[in-house]
Amino acid sequence: MDKPVRIALIPGDGVGSEVMAEALPCLDWARDRGRRIETERFPFGADHCLATGETLPDAAFLDLRDGFDAILFGAVGDPRLPDGRHAEAILLRLRQDLALTVNFRPCRSWGPGARLGLDLEVFRENTEGPYCLQGSTEPGRAVDLAVHTEPAVRRLLQAAFQRAGQRNRPLTLAHKANVLKHGHGLWMRVFEDLRSDHPGVSARGMHADALLCALVQDPAPFGIIAADNYLGDLISDLCAAFIGGMGVAPSLSWAPHRPFRCSVLAEPVHGSAPDIAGKGLANPVGMVLSTALLFRHLGWEPEASALETAVSRALASGAKTPDLGGTLSTQAMGLAIRDHLPH
Ligand code: ATP
Repeated sequence: MDKPVRIALIPGDGVGSEVMAEALPCLDWARDRGRRIETERFPFGADHCLATGETLPDAAFLDLRDGFDAILFGAVGDPRLPDGRHAEAILLRLRQDLALTVNFRPCRSWGPGARLGLDLEVFRENTEGPYCLQGSTEPGRAVDLAVHTEPAVRRLLQAAFQRAGQRNRPLTLAHKANVLKHGHGLWMRVFEDLRSDHPGVSARGMHADALLCALVQDPAPFGIIAADNYLGDLISDLCAAFIGGMGVAPSLSWAPHRPFRCSVLAEPVHGSAPDIAGKGLANPVGMVLSTALLFRHLGWEPEASALETAVSRALASGAKTPDLGGTLSTQAMGLAIRDHLPH
């Protein structure tokens, strides 16, 4: 019998726990189909930080790293902690210290509100660039360092080239090597290197500003887009707008070289959405689709595609939360999705 997969649950802040509540029955459904899953819930987030002063204690980090296979994550961010330090200490630490270099953000037309037939995939480097949290503020001067290392850049681009080859889709690298000569110069060198290793992949670099303009005009010709942490963050939110907005966009982050037992984290693209938190308005689709991406990563293809099909069918039947122009609550949308799962 397969060993159980241990999944750590971190709902986090704001709508994080509301959308997580709709992912948990999907785990139960997979269990009912014979998948062996063990879960443990962790309290990390703003409430816990305000009550105890703890963000992500070292002992808990080591437990997550060595005692679990995967993390299912909601969102972090809370107006009561406006400098976002707890979010850095939780989510950025997990991404960086678990070396979850590859952040995969597929944008497909799941249902109404999306451009028909769109099939874009963004590969965002997830641990470096200007989000490495190194810098300084002095009177009249502020510095944010952007660090890019060859191993991380190579891992991210390797994953993007592999995917483009497997799916026979064109690959575009977003960069600003014309001005960011050092950091993006490194990206270009690694890109050229991998391009000669993958002669079957149609791959080109494009200045990120021109790419954004071309995407807004017509996203259809683009297949796979690779980018550093900062550009990938911006580009993937724009791409989410093509498929109905933040509420429906999923993501999966992983460490291709698997340095630790825990090498994958699934989370929706959206943040904690304080403006709608606690009102049952959040769309759970991004979270449920992130769970599907995790299932696929674990090798559970039938469960992954069944979840994706259930989302498409629910949306096609008119089930929608307010962000998509509907009236369903988060819970009711979760139920509508599960109604379309095979028993
Ligand atoms: P972060 O930087 O943490 O990603 P953010 O500043 O990008 O966060 P979000 O929390 O993602 O912001 O919210 C951006 C907008 O999208 C808000 O107006 C929010 O209400 C909306 N939004 C986010 N998530 C959802 C959701 N699940 N359903 C509906 N609307 C959402």
